[in-house]
Amino acid sequence: MKCVCGSGLKEIRTDLDFFDGSVVVRNVKAFYCPECKEELFDSKEGDRLTEQVSKLDFVRPFESRKKIAKVGNSYAIPVSKEIAEYMQVKKGGEIRVKVQSPKRLIVDFA
Ligand SMILES: [Zn+2]
Repeated sequence: MKCVCGSGLKEIRTDLDFFDGSVVVRNVKAFYCPECKEELFDSKEGDRLTEQVSKLDFVRPFESRKKIAKVGNSYAIPVSKEIAEYMQVKKGGEIRVKVQSPKRLIVDFA
């Protein structure tokens, strides 16, 4: 198999992330072009994985819509009981908050 640049592709095994890393599929067959430094996926394999992952519904119950609360001068984002249990969130526990865009906040629980 050859890359669009004409170089030979090396078969590799790699990890694929879905849903911003909530689901990781390990050891996926892919091809690597040493020239372009790009990983290429077999489109059939990619379609198959995407279809399988889209059937997983354990990701959906962890989605929730909440209203933002105000606590003193700060804003508090309520975390549902299910998410809190899954994430082992405790009152007084530490978080690291990163703003990724004006519409997306990433919270890492320590
Ligand atoms: Zn290439």
